[in-house]
Amino acid sequence: MGLLTEGSPLSWPETKKYADHVRHHGITQLLYIVDRLKERENDCLKWGDEVEYMLVKFDHEEKTAKLLLKSSNLLPKLQEEEHANPGKNETSWKPEYASYMIEGTPGQPLGGCMRHFNMIEANMKLRREEVMNLLNPDDECVLSMTCFPRIGCPQFTFPSYKPSTSSGASHSLFFPQEAISSHPRYSTLTRNIRERRGSKVAINVPIFKDTNTPSPFIETFPNNDGEAWRAAKPDHIYMDAMGFGMGCCCLQMTFQACNINEARHLYDQLAVLTPIMHALSAGAPIFRGYLADVDCRWNVISASVDDRTEEERGLVPLKNDRFRIRKSRYDSIDSYLSVQAAPYSDIDMAYDDEIFQRLLKEGMDEQMAKHFAHLYIRDPLTLFSEKIDLNDEEDSDHFENIQSTNWQTMRFKPPPANSPIGWRVEFRPTEVQLTDFENAAFATFVVLITRVILSFNLNLLIPLSKVDENLASAQKRDAVRKEKFHFRTMLKICGANEKGVEVCPKECCYKLMSIDEIINGKEGEFSGLIPLINKFLDSVDVDFETRCTISQYLKFMSKKASGEYLTTAQWMRNFVVEHPEYKHDSVVSEHIAYDLLKTCHEISNNGQPCPKLFGCPETLTTRSIGPEFESPHGANGTATMNGAVTNGI
Ligand code: ADP
Ligand code: MG
Ligand code: MG
Ligand code: MG
Ligand code: MG
Repeated sequence: MGLLTEGSPLSWPETKKYADHVRHHGITQLLYIVDRLKERENDCLKWGDEVEYMLVKFDHEEKTAKLLLKSSNLLPKLQEEEHANPGKNETSWKPEYASYMIEGTPGQPLGGCMRHFNMIEANMKLRREEVMNLLNPDDECVLSMTCFPRIGCPQFTFPSYKPSTSSGASHSLFFPQEAISSHPRYSTLTRNIRERRGSKVAINVPIFKDTNTPSPFIETFPNNDGEAWRAAKPDHIYMDAMGFGMGCCCLQMTFQACNINEARHLYDQLAVLTPIMHALSAGAPIFRGYLADVDCRWNVISASVDDRTEEERGLVPLKNDRFRIRKSRYDSIDSYLSVQAAPYSDIDMAYDDEIFQRLLKEGMDEQMAKHFAHLYIRDPLTLFSEKIDLNDEEDSDHFENIQSTNWQTMRFKPPPANSPIGWRVEFRPTEVQLTDFENAAFATFVVLITRVILSFNLNLLIPLSKVDENLASAQKRDAVRKEKFHFRTMLKICGANEKGVEVCPKECCYKLMSIDEIINGKEGEFSGLIPLINKFLDSVDVDFETRCTISQYLKFMSKKASGEYLTTAQWMRNFVVEHPEYKHDSVVSEHIAYDLLKTCHEISNNGQPCPKLFGCPETLTTRSIGPEFESPHGANGTATMNGAVTNGI
């Protein structure tokens, strides 16, 4: 979850005092990076996924499943290989927000070679095995699951701890301090978000109204917590802590572009796909022991770190704060980044004009300057006393401080100071899937889409306000089968001027389509993303094994999109509703959750088939990441994925 710095965190009032200092030096650091690296060219495609996992502890006698607060015991062991053989490690492990979470990535990024698609699933398997080997096979397991169904219910952790509304970082009625990772960054973020906001965060998810759900559905909370009484909405599941969002797990992908312009272009193009992938990956239908009326985590995690004051949220007139801000720091992007996309950036967003003018004066173009001036309306949320005065030419901590606490659907990642890494973009909306096969399929699909966008010079842009509408639709129950999304029918630039800017973004270029139509196409009307990927694959030289691997992933994505395979959220929802002990009152009891989690464990870790979720793929990907890394461009006629294919579509 971003930058980890060791040291002594400052209090919120102290941190606030340094906000302008951090912003000023953050921008100075950015300018050094841009100045040094804006001309950097010819980086090859590199990519890697991040999978977040949760640890689970079963009690088979009592039939309970709890979140196991053990990641700090596991991490040093998981990191041994990376520390002993840096550069040769096959996996890499990082702490995450909750003390039941860990994040795993490939040890080294994968490359632009087609054969690497055979390795991603194997690497995910290896990660899973590394964790499983450190757990007690009788009653512990690791799960790649978006949201733990009974998060925030009494005794949802092992060991069990009591939440406290007067001590600790969250002041939560539900989420105990011990469930937050012990690195000071996490508690400090939690406390400072609460203090900056001026109250606890307030998360209200609409409850799924079943036949026996009380209507209106109103919960009672202990009298000592006035905030819950004010913030909890009827017919909603109320949650009051950062852990409910940041304690969810997700799947992210990062891509290295060949230069800064390609990175900006991919950032924009992929932004359009974020709602589509969010809907397809939907994996969070249950919160705090209740079935929700949504299938995804996005609004929950967004609200869970919403540090905006009442003034910034527009509830009271602006007096002490600088801006009215429409969105949480965890939300969809507010502007496109490339010059060509400017006409589609139709969202009215706050930005820091002083920073904007400074960036322009230093030669940055308007689109990019606005992007950073927008990110920089935020205050730093943590600051370590040892890290206040830095050498701006060498350090990027202040830049990263603000950058990495803007948790948006896409992230534009400038190269870190003093590293061989190029310009990257990160694709962040995907909910994590139960199996390595599914996660590999999602990752592969997004990598291939980037290749299709570049090779065929696609233009997916629609007004950004429409992308936001899509993100709202994406979270709805059964969105893949029931919702329609704004999407371009015309995938080429339609009437560009000499700068390559589409002259007038016309409504004729996009319309409402189902996810099935977007992914699989519609005869005579729209080519569909998977047919385009296949067309791309036909145009490059791919060996048979790799093509088979990719085909299975594409088949999976195609059937997800058509609704033949259920989303993880739909599958979980059905599991609950069909459980003999479910009383049609929206309650996911301890016993139902136990059965659900045990089934997830069997599917995720023991190869139990689940045809409704992903059919019956054959395991083709057994090779782990090996010597191929030494020659990222492949051998024996194996295609690489850099360099555009020029045939049209
Ligand atoms: P963050 O948490 O900041 O998003 P991580 O380091 O956890 O970043 O993960 C970044 C992902 O990017 C990993 O999968 C990693 O393998 C991958 N990666 C590393 N270097 C590069 C690179 N040069 N280009 C693209 N991806 C990279
Ligand atoms: Mg993470
Ligand atoms: Mg990470
Ligand atoms: Mg991160
Ligand atoms: Mg990330």
